[in-house]
Amino acid sequence: MPMAKKTKTVKVINIDLEKCNGCRACEVICSAFHAPDKYSLNNPARSRIRMIRKPLDDIYLPVYAGEYTAAECMGRDKYIIDGKEYDECDFCRASCPSRDAFKEPDSGLPLKCDMCEDDPPQEEPLCVKWCLSDALTYEEREEEIDEEEEEQELTQEEMERGLKALADKYGLDSVAGSLARLLKKE
Ligand code: SF4
Ligand code: SF4
Repeated sequence: MPMAKKTKTVKVINIDLEKCNGCRACEVICSAFHAPDKYSLNNPARSRIRMIRKPLDDIYLPVYAGEYTAAECMGRDKYIIDGKEYDECDFCRASCPSRDAFKEPDSGLPLKCDMCEDDPPQEEPLCVKWCLSDALTYEEREEEIDEEEEEQELTQEEMERGLKALADKYGLDSVAGSLARLLKKE
C-alpha cells in the first residue's frame, strides 16, 4: 500500500558563492544569537554556519550545519568548480567525528542550524539578515513528505523539548556534560 503523503514547509538558505566575500558576519551573529544568554558573547567556534576561507585561492564558502552523524564517511574526493579546488568535506553539513566543525568547542556536542527559531519568530534567519552581500537568501517551499517521515521529525522535536526541560531543571552545562560523556562512550 502506498505511503500516505502530507505537505510540509521546508526552510532553506540558498548560497551564492560568487557573492560571498568572507566577512564572517554570519558566524558572528549566529554565535551571538545562540549564546547561553542571547547576545552575551560572540564566539564563531559556536556558530552553526561556518566559513571555509582560503583567501589565497579566492575561496569563500559558507555552510550551515545539518544533522549529526556518528560515523565518518569515505568522501575524500576533490572538486574543481570555476577553476577552484574544493575538498568534498568543504560542502558537507554534518557534524561528524572526523572534524571539529559544528561542535560546541567545550562539550563537543553537535550543533545544528535551527533557522534562528525564536518566540516571536524572526522575519528571516539572522545570518541571512546580516549578510550584506546577499550571498545568503532565505526560501520557504512546500514539499510532499511521507507521514512516517513526519513522525520521525516529531520524535526529534519531542527529544529537544525534553532536553530543554532537563536544561531548565539542572542547568545547560550539567546536561551538556552528561551528553558529552555519553557521546564519548559510543
Ligand atoms: S539560520 Fe540562524 S541558526 Fe542557522 S546558521 Fe543562520 S544564524 Fe545560525
Ligand atoms: S555574511 Fe555573507 S558575505 Fe559574509 S561570510 Fe557570511 S555569507 Fe559570506
